Amino acid sequence: MKPVIFTKIDGGKLEIGTGALTQMQKYIQDNNFKREAGGVLLGRYIKDSLDIVIDEVTVPMWGDRRGLFRFFRARRPHQKIIDRRWKESEGTINYLGEWHTHPESIPTPSSRDINDWERKLDEDFFDSDSLHFVILGIEGLRAWELSKRTLTRELIGEFWYSEEKNV
Ligand SMILES: [Zn+2]
Repeated sequence: MKPVIFTKIDGGKLEIGTGALTQMQKYIQDNNFKREAGGVLLGRYIKDSLDIVIDEVTVPMWGDRRGLFRFFRARRPHQKIIDRRWKESEGTINYLGEWHTHPESIPTPSSRDINDWERKLDEDFFDSDSLHFVILGIEGLRAWELSKRTLTRELIGEFWYSEEKNV
């Protein structure tokens, strides 16, 4: 498996590392019994560049509300991991955004997702102008960037899992 690389609004790269990809892909809703899953994106701002790398994700935890068509992440247990990883990494591993799954082949955010994302942009602490949001559909994933500075939401990339099997 190779990392997935998208171009951010500012021209820098957003890399989703293979470890993070593997973790998230376990939760793809590829049968009728799997409920929505999600968590936070954790990773690094690469020095002297605009690039960021998602190295890790949190996965569903006790307290999350998981339905067939919705996922609501409990704040505290995920925040504990964000804080712990930040400390352990001496401030290198940061909160970069959120991910969740959708039971559709290629995902589109619901209006609830968009409200949720905008609220996070408003309320959460993070070190850059923007947050990233990944939704994993059944056949592919997509990533969006929300910018505090420009107040925009942009689809920055799409990756079909089958691309990976061909290479
Ligand atoms: Zn959603």
